[in-house]
Amino acid sequence: MSKINQLNNTAELRALDQAHHMHPFTDMGDYQNKGGRIVTRGEHIYFYDSEDNQVLDGMSGLWCCNLGYSQPKIVEAIHEQLQVLPFYNNFFQCSNDMAVKMAKALIDVTPDHLNHVFFTNSGSEANDTNIKLVHRYYKILGKPEKKHFIARNNGYHGSTVASSSLTGMKFMHDQYTGIEYVHHIQQPHFFSEGGDLTPEEFGIQAARELEKKIHEIGEDKIAAFIAEPIQGAGGVIIPPDTYWPEIQRICNEHDILLISDEVICGFGRTGNWFGCETYGFKPDLMTFAKAVTNGFQALGGVMISDKVADVLAQGKGDFAHGMTYSGHPVACAAGVATLEVLKSQRIIENMSQDVGPYFEKRWKSLADHPIVGEARAKNMIAAIELVKNKETKERLAPDSAGGMACRNQAIKEGLLVRAVGDAMVCAPPIISNKQEVDSIIERMTRALDFTASLYGIK
Ligand code: PMP
Repeated sequence: MSKINQLNNTAELRALDQAHHMHPFTDMGDYQNKGGRIVTRGEHIYFYDSEDNQVLDGMSGLWCCNLGYSQPKIVEAIHEQLQVLPFYNNFFQCSNDMAVKMAKALIDVTPDHLNHVFFTNSGSEANDTNIKLVHRYYKILGKPEKKHFIARNNGYHGSTVASSSLTGMKFMHDQYTGIEYVHHIQQPHFFSEGGDLTPEEFGIQAARELEKKIHEIGEDKIAAFIAEPIQGAGGVIIPPDTYWPEIQRICNEHDILLISDEVICGFGRTGNWFGCETYGFKPDLMTFAKAVTNGFQALGGVMISDKVADVLAQGKGDFAHGMTYSGHPVACAAGVATLEVLKSQRIIENMSQDVGPYFEKRWKSLADHPIVGEARAKNMIAAIELVKNKETKERLAPDSAGGMACRNQAIKEGLLVRAVGDAMVCAPPIISNKQEVDSIIERMTRALDFTASLYGIK
């Protein structure tokens, strides 16, 4: 073993991490001083750190290990593929057999009208790809001025320059200059923006913000609307049932392409294979990544409808886009194996009839806790809003300190959840069983009790 591989002392690893490793979405100076937890292994729905603390992973890695950490069939498929064909590209009149098999496997599980795929390595790259596909589509149709995108405040679509322009998070936009042809509209966040409306009324009102924006900019300039079926990174914003049908109507009536970003919602999370099925809408393009390989390999992509693909096929000359690893055979082997596990064990169907509704019910019962203003869940994706006062929705403390305190305590209780401002977010592996769900709720309740006592709330 090399000297580097023998490094397993926590203090040494942490010192090296702080000195040399710059982390994504992390305050760099702060990390250099404080460092973080070093995760060294995973098993079933748990991960373990370098000091052998076991943590129940309420975030499925980063919303990707939907089947947990122990999936020998996926590992075997990766291993086998590495021995047969560890790499070959898909450029210049060439394909590799695993990419072809993965394309077929995706076609089999995605909605019927999505019969084409473009592979990337991540969700961010997939959304960049969406922009280029859509621009090419309208250029071929002779409408090059139709190039503007509408996305939503607080939506997340990635962190490359283009995809983070689609992302609607101000703290990200403050750090760089994004692309100028993206516009953001209201998110369907009933708890914070619903005012005096009923959820149904608010769903319609929030959707009509899209129509307003189309009128403002001009239908002849708008190319597409992109949104997550349920906003994940923005704090698990579950739209009212009236929202998506109205969005679909608006896109149809105004000749706007509809892009469903399923990087989090895809592959079971909301109780169906894809979030667009849960909400009954029909996207022209669909972004996927993360759970497509159960997070075991880097793979993302765009599913393209026949409507869009037929036009793209009429374009003359190469589509000038692609990554060396677009359709990497090892990532595709992991994907084929992941979809096979999901299908053969009927994991999504079983979850949506059993543990999904159970988790939903138990999570929603957290609403009775004195510091919970709202508890929302859709199968295996959930959030609670922390408040000091349920009536006024006043927050526990400024700058989301309450959320951070609750998150830190949850980890001490052995449960990883995420704090998005004052929303505590949870998306556990969809293979969790009912006892494990009980354990999530018990640990979460203890973290809530601790946070309530910290702020003197009974
Ligand atoms: N879209 C959505 C909805 C996401 O949640 C994410 C990642 N959290 C992305 C895109 C970006 O994916 P990646 O981090 O793989 O680039």
